[in-house]
Amino acid sequence: MDCFLKASNIIEKYKKPVCSISGGKDSDIMLDIITKVDTQHKVMYVWLDTGIEYQATKNHLEYLKQKYNIKIHIEKAVKPIPVACKEYGYPFVSKHISEMMYRLQKHNFQWEDEPFESLIVKYPKCKSALKWWTNQKGNMQGKISRFDIAYNKYLKEFIITNPPNFRISNKCCEYAKKKASHLYSQLNNCDLDIVGIRKAEGGARAGSYKNCFTNNTEDISHYRPLFWFTNEDKKVYDRLFNVVHSDCYNLYGLKRTGCVGCPFGRDLENEIEVMKKYEPKLAKAANNIFKESYEYTKKYRQFAAYMKANKGGDSIAKND
Ligand code: SF4
Repeated sequence: MDCFLKASNIIEKYKKPVCSISGGKDSDIMLDIITKVDTQHKVMYVWLDTGIEYQATKNHLEYLKQKYNIKIHIEKAVKPIPVACKEYGYPFVSKHISEMMYRLQKHNFQWEDEPFESLIVKYPKCKSALKWWTNQKGNMQGKISRFDIAYNKYLKEFIITNPPNFRISNKCCEYAKKKASHLYSQLNNCDLDIVGIRKAEGGARAGSYKNCFTNNTEDISHYRPLFWFTNEDKKVYDRLFNVVHSDCYNLYGLKRTGCVGCPFGRDLENEIEVMKKYEPKLAKAANNIFKESYEYTKKYRQFAAYMKANKGGDSIAKND
């Protein structure tokens, strides 16, 4: 009830709200809520086509259109994922790590294991990425920050032993998702952006918000109707309102659906197997796009597992 009242209240105050649909579980619940409270039918719905998408998601969008009798506008990526990856580099482990490695590679960093003070002399325009590399963020508070490389166990040791021979970047997030959604809102003079981010999903995206609403009088405001939903709340909502999710969950058995085959995926190996079984062409496409990152990620995971099993590794060289 809180959620319905809040959603109704907020939507009422805006003239041109836009709701970003992904076809995922959270998005399904958000859509159910918004369509129930949007009595004036003023909310526009948009789906971002990143250039590599499950057929099951596309089918689900058709189902949603009919179920709620709504139009869902398909917005093409400013640069589709395959293009953005080719141009800027490939995602590796997480958004933050990819961004830091992108910056270091841009300055021709040689992955030296040296203190910040000497590295900043060699690479003076790379301060924040060098702070990540030398664990300066947490050092200041006497602990490891999630913005330090040490937050990901044995990553630094791995990179030093196996420097990447391909470009790393998170720019596809910017060009395939962020910019496309921003452009759509701008072109349509939208004043409220509605997205399905939940605090409980964790990670940098959810962590960058404190509550469900960001009022912005000069620009577009942002509303996250599911922000306080727990996993249990989602189950209850599904049951109460008979929400049907896409085949990605019901048939393929995936637990999450983000970008198809994104190397950040926690359950990546399983996702690749699922793709091979249900959407084999997509599996091939994902492998073509992310091949180098998949191999490098696998190598890192094996390295970390080896180091953990050997309590830090008596000799890194042994792993080679
Ligand atoms: S989630 Fe992964 S694949 Fe999708 S745009 Fe971001 S980095 Fe690229």
